[in-house]
Amino acid sequence: MPKKASDIFNETNYVFGSKGDFKDAFPEIQEMSINVTELESLIWMKEQAAHYLTVDYPGGEYIDCTNPSCDGGGFSMGNILRGAVNGKEEEIEKSITCQGAETSGRRCMHAFKVNGSIKYRA
Ligand SMILES: [Zn+2]
Repeated sequence: MPKKASDIFNETNYVFGSKGDFKDAFPEIQEMSINVTELESLIWMKEQAAHYLTVDYPGGEYIDCTNPSCDGGGFSMGNILRGAVNGKEEEIEKSITCQGAETSGRRCMHAFKVNGSIKYRA
């Protein structure tokens, strides 16, 4: 079975997720409300999966791609959050293409739309 981003992540380091604590990794974040929608591609906007992330349910460092033939698929939500915290961005709106490759060698076309808001501790 092809590996997903979180499998690779689970074998290496971690920042937050099932092994860590979101509040330790991101003490600056008081509240967040972030929608992540996985699309078949940025051209074919067909929705494949949806995630809703909050401080209490932050998900993990990585969000996996649901394409069954995608290897290493997904993206690092942790990197997006670290970028937002660095810039004290209160609104996030990003489109990210999957970092995986299909087992045939073709690049995975799945994409993720990240939309939401973050409130920081004063
Ligand atoms: Zn993928």
